[in-house]
Amino acid sequence: MSDLEMPPKIAPMLETRQVCKQYQSGTTTLEVLRGVDFTLEKGGFLAVVGQSGSGKSTLLHVMGLLDAPDSGEVWIDGQRIDNLPGREKDRLRNSAIGMVFQAYHLLPELTALENVLAPLLIRHGIFDWFTQRGIAQEKAKVLLDRFGLSNRLHHRPRQLSGGEMQRVAIARALITDPQVLLADEPTGNLDEESGAGIIEALAELNRDKGLSIVLVTHDADIASQARGIVRLAAGTVDIMDPGAADSAA
Ligand code: ADP
Ligand code: MG
Repeated sequence: MSDLEMPPKIAPMLETRQVCKQYQSGTTTLEVLRGVDFTLEKGGFLAVVGQSGSGKSTLLHVMGLLDAPDSGEVWIDGQRIDNLPGREKDRLRNSAIGMVFQAYHLLPELTALENVLAPLLIRHGIFDWFTQRGIAQEKAKVLLDRFGLSNRLHHRPRQLSGGEMQRVAIARALITDPQVLLADEPTGNLDEESGAGIIEALAELNRDKGLSIVLVTHDADIASQARGIVRLAAGTVDIMDPGAADSAA
């Protein structure tokens, strides 16, 4: 086949190229990431595993633009993003990238509904909000309903179980219609049953909505439910098993 006949190459959803990150503590330098090459195809669902301290959260924060690499590159859908100006990074974190954390990070003073709405309030700003609020609230309610929380809309985080808080956090991550969801040990604070519910919800989003997902976990059972597993060890990707991640495209 000549080059002209080749189908256009589809850019991966998310890529890191030779990402390095070190931390300085006193006189010692901790090299956490030493050239990490990572690729998530569109519609992929990869688990990142590795021992505690292996740099899983650091890698996820770099991918999610919460932290900058010392060197190397981060690409999303064919665009390099690690070198963008701060405002552009903020915009991507409020649109293309959704994040979920072990400790939920919900705002305690806000209800479940208000927590889910917060990213859209930030996006539109207070003045536009009055014209956007109705549509946004409908969207948030649909999302919360999908996660079985339609009778928890006005509960505050402390009135919710861990599993419910995490489902609110996932709804908040999805309200901006991200292309990729980054989840850092989302079941880490949950009992087995609630944790299984969260992973099932993620698997369903991947399967039915084609959402691309990176799931950080130290739990092998949970990792096995992703469609491929990447192991971080000694600062690099040790095993890259893309699994069936590209077969659903
Ligand atoms: P994991 O999520 O795999 O458990 P992390 O990415 O959180 O690992 O951390 C990797 C290593 O980097 C750990 O040894 C941790 O102590 C260290 N580390 C993480 N963040 C910082 C920081 N802000 N300053 C100094 N060291 C850090
Ligand atoms: Mg971690």
